[in-house]
Amino acid sequence: MLRLAAIQKLGGKCIRCGYSDHRALQFDHVNGDGIRAIRGTNQLTRYRRILDGTTVDVQLLCANCNWIKRSENDEQPKRDYVSSLQSSTDAEKVSDILGISIDQADSLIHTLKSQ
Ligand SMILES: [Zn+2]
Repeated sequence: MLRLAAIQKLGGKCIRCGYSDHRALQFDHVNGDGIRAIRGTNQLTRYRRILDGTTVDVQLLCANCNWIKRSENDEQPKRDYVSSLQSSTDAEKVSDILGISIDQADSLIHTLKSQ
């Protein structure tokens, strides 16, 4: 229940798109230094710190927006194929990353872009 309470404390919905299903909401550290911020603390402690106001540099993002933010901020490895598919029209690069032919990569990109 601490997780739900912490979500409510932070507004109860994704700050980007307003998505409010708590099952897909994630705690995002504003400065992208999440690993450093949570080191040495367990999950319950992190929720308590949100609830008592100790932790202020955290915001709610849904899973989709969190992925998009990571892609925008380059918080993940450059070769992560999800960000590549979202941001690249380069079929050659995609075929290399996924190990498929350039034709397959081209049609995959078209499929993703038309969704
Ligand atoms: Zn969202």
